[in-house]
Amino acid sequence: MRQKIVAGNWKMNGSLEFANDFVSGVNRAVLPDAIDVVICPPAPYLLTVSSQIKGAKVGAQNVYFETSGAYTGELSPKILQDVGCKYVLVGHSERRALLSEVDGQIAKKVKAAIDCDLKVILCVGETLEQRASGKLEEVISAQVLAGTSLLDVVEFGSLVVAYEPVWAIGTGQTASPQQAQEVHALIRSLLVKLAGETAAENVSILYGGSVSASTAAEIFAQADIDGGLVGGASLKLEEFLVICDHC
Ligand code: PGA
Repeated sequence: MRQKIVAGNWKMNGSLEFANDFVSGVNRAVLPDAIDVVICPPAPYLLTVSSQIKGAKVGAQNVYFETSGAYTGELSPKILQDVGCKYVLVGHSERRALLSEVDGQIAKKVKAAIDCDLKVILCVGETLEQRASGKLEEVISAQVLAGTSLLDVVEFGSLVVAYEPVWAIGTGQTASPQQAQEVHALIRSLLVKLAGETAAENVSILYGGSVSASTAAEIFAQADIDGGLVGGASLKLEEFLVICDHC
């Protein structure tokens, strides 16, 4: 049985007060116990969230691939682990597009984080232009291949993939459950080629891109969709909890 996961990516939003209130709300709620609920706040709030949260896990939004040293402004997997992170997002499309993150760096981040016992949520997704010009399969394959290129078969056990079509992120335009399932099945078949049937069957693949309380149930019902990576709706406690309930 694959792990079901709902991860909330706050991106560059929130405040200390918001983080404290959110954690209190999560702690009062009854979370579905079979799923991993993961909160990914901005880095300065990781410790406050991880030290108070009950029943949910904490993830970082980014990581660097060295363990320590002269890398001003960066955070190592070890530091993230030290402040209570269990998960980390790698290769989010906003980092690829706005911060020039490339596949080579992403592969090293994935490997370094897994080496440090973090679970990695590797984000992949195509732009609207790439989809329209028939490059969907090529783009997704290249991102999955590159992102996992430094892993051995056992390390796929610490990998989660998030399929996030760029055109669906923050736009209110969710991929249809069929569109999402099609790409999830493609990702699963790539994982089979890379790591074998058993390892691939155990990798959770999340959908992300305008997931909301009203779209979550149908999306999560698809065969190869094991949960969601939620942006905007993860900042609204009530809605986020409803999304978790649908998983
Ligand atoms: P969204 O963001 O839910 O606001 O579309 C998802 C993400 O970027 O992880």
